[in-house]
Amino acid sequence: MPEVSFVNAAELTGFDAISNNNHELVMYCNDNATGLKAIIAVHNTTLGPALGGLRMWKYASDKDALFDVLRLSRGMTYKSAVAGLNLGGGKAVIIGDARTQKNEALLRRFGKFVNNLAGKYITAEDVGIGVKDIEYVQNETPYVAGLSDKSGDPSPFTALGTYLSIKAGMKKITGSDSLAGKKIMVQGTGHVGLYLVEHLVKEGAIVYGYDIYEDTLKKAVDAGAVAVNASEVYSKEVDVYAPCALGATLNPDTIPLLKCSLVAGAANNQLLDEVRDGQSLQDRGILYAPDFVANAGGIINVFNEVNGPYNVNKSTRMTESIYDTVLSVFKMCEEQNILPQQAAMALGEKRIREVGNNRLFN
Ligand code: NAD
Repeated sequence: MPEVSFVNAAELTGFDAISNNNHELVMYCNDNATGLKAIIAVHNTTLGPALGGLRMWKYASDKDALFDVLRLSRGMTYKSAVAGLNLGGGKAVIIGDARTQKNEALLRRFGKFVNNLAGKYITAEDVGIGVKDIEYVQNETPYVAGLSDKSGDPSPFTALGTYLSIKAGMKKITGSDSLAGKKIMVQGTGHVGLYLVEHLVKEGAIVYGYDIYEDTLKKAVDAGAVAVNASEVYSKEVDVYAPCALGATLNPDTIPLLKCSLVAGAANNQLLDEVRDGQSLQDRGILYAPDFVANAGGIINVFNEVNGPYNVNKSTRMTESIYDTVLSVFKMCEEQNILPQQAAMALGEKRIREVGNNRLFN
């Protein structure tokens, strides 16, 4: 898996975009009747079928959607590899506003496209897509996970793993993993963000929250968070910044503003450029818990559904191990003098190399 900065990749099109990080497959899905415009990306299936959520977002351009789905699917490869799952990396995006353009027909049409891939890609929930939506998709394909009569919404597990990653980060910085009295900024208080707020408030942290939707933010305030406005998200003095909205929020514009000692959150692809921006965080003395390690609870839970019979205790146990994985990433950084993102990627690549060679799947 060659390492190429995704900042540069944003400018690529066609096969150049796909081969840049060695994606296996990108499928454009169009249906004029329902207005469906979707892209499914499969990055790597060495360890198993590509599993990753479906995101619905009002992308400014098709190019932005492609950029996002390529980054997201690649992140899933690393996430599942590090979490020890027999899954490859894939993801799908629907271009559109989930609040106004999402409906049964559109989702079922998307499901038909997923079915065409015959199990190479399995879909689930992500930004803008909930359990009910996935059940519409299920009408057209068995290649779905996160169903209400099985493992359900993965968000509580994602939030649990993220919460434990914050604790692991604090342990590394202060020697104690207690979050009592710590100030934590949660950006994006949707499915995962809200559950995270609940964990943090319960432990006695002072939690700040921001979401672009007022009704979503209100739920976090009701759960004990203090609402802040957009301009305070990066610049407020806190101990932890927890990105739980979209990706690429760690970039040359935001990193200089941060006044925290730890970044640990649920959002995928937090670093716009995983080398440059990871280095900038380190230069500013900010510890970074790699997103695909911190937010693996959801895929762990979904994997246990696909690899059934589903057992909630097993998912919880596996998610709790994220605490130790984060600490082992930090240890690798110290021993090898590398950045957290690079250490976590090396862990994933090692497993793909070693285990992938022995699998019959391919
Ligand atoms: P969600 O759609 O329920 O919540 C995302 C929230 O972010 C929304 O409420 C949205 O309004 C808000 N938002 C978007 N842009 C924002 C901005 N600039 N500032 C503040 N808020 C903003 O999605 P989710 O399932 O909670 O996922 C959150 C993040 O975690 C995503 O990046 C997702 O890919 C990642 N993630 C989710 C899961 C999961 O189990 N749901 C698993 C792994 C990773």
